[in-house]
Amino acid sequence: MHRDPDADALGSSLGWASYLIQKGHAVTVISPTDYTANLAWLPGIEQVLIYERAGDQRICKTKIEEASLICCLDFSVLSRLKDLGKVVQDAKADKMMIDHHLEPEHFAKWMIWDTYAAATAQLVYSLIREMEPGAAVTDVINKSMAECLYAGIMTDTGSFRHANVTPEVHLAVADLMLTGFDASRVHRLIYDNAPLSRLQFLGYVLSQKLIVIPEFRTAYMVLTEAELIRYNSSPGETEGIVNYGLQVENVVMSALFIERKGEIKISFRSVGGFSVRDLASSHFSGGGHKNASGGRSEQSIKETVDRFLSVLPSYREALLSVD
Ligand code: 5GP
Ligand code: MN
Repeated sequence: MHRDPDADALGSSLGWASYLIQKGHAVTVISPTDYTANLAWLPGIEQVLIYERAGDQRICKTKIEEASLICCLDFSVLSRLKDLGKVVQDAKADKMMIDHHLEPEHFAKWMIWDTYAAATAQLVYSLIREMEPGAAVTDVINKSMAECLYAGIMTDTGSFRHANVTPEVHLAVADLMLTGFDASRVHRLIYDNAPLSRLQFLGYVLSQKLIVIPEFRTAYMVLTEAELIRYNSSPGETEGIVNYGLQVENVVMSALFIERKGEIKISFRSVGGFSVRDLASSHFSGGGHKNASGGRSEQSIKETVDRFLSVLPSYREALLSVD
């Protein structure tokens, strides 16, 4: 799965791993970097090795070198694996990609790749169901797998409200719910499970850091390392904050700039026809989806934000024409 794994990266990988284990395969699940605390309840997460963790790195390398198949879930460019990308690239095993991001690299022998899919977990669900046509859902997907896949679909659709929600999404979720898991509990564990400090930090960001530029229908927030330290804010606590910008009337693009360990990470969100993926890939070495993308910058936070502000005029027409 990709670095800084979200519920779709983890949920799709764990669901797929569970299926392969059920079929008698020996499976290792690897994430390049650690996951956030609100995902630590996902069934099977204790098996996940973190490549960045000193204790896990050697075994990750060995497993990848010895693998007969490497399944790449929820990413389609190897740079999303950070340092692990080179290890995967050099591995002799065939690669299989399951992903829904735009503009994939062609490193995989098999690609289950569909940008129309709301989540990678949706693709894993369809793959399992299509491989065993005629089986009842409970014969191929157990409650724990369903929870993992549901978590991925729920989060990548913004709790079933984004433009990527299709009839297939609801049909998949209805089928998964037949396994009997508690969907409301999954939502609560992910979204209503924050330390008090996250809400207090959010209060600070919304009251002091949210800037709106009405003439570009854009909102943005800039969080420096000093602020994150002052609020003792972990990566999990900044997750999702970018979405608040879109709650402002008339705003169609929101950006969040975060300075962490000297690196600038940027999150972009948009609505309708405006593509933040183009903006992220043209100016911030990133990518993602049309309405949700991310990027990085090696410049200072001020230079990065200035660059963002200086390219905004070239997107003015596209921003103003969003319905
Ligand atoms: P987030 O803002 O939640 O980190 O990322 C939003 C979306 O953009 C996700 O689908 C993620 O895969 C993609 N994304 C985030 N950062 C990067 C990046 O550095 N490179 C690419 N290619 N995609 C990214
Ligand atoms: Mn995804």
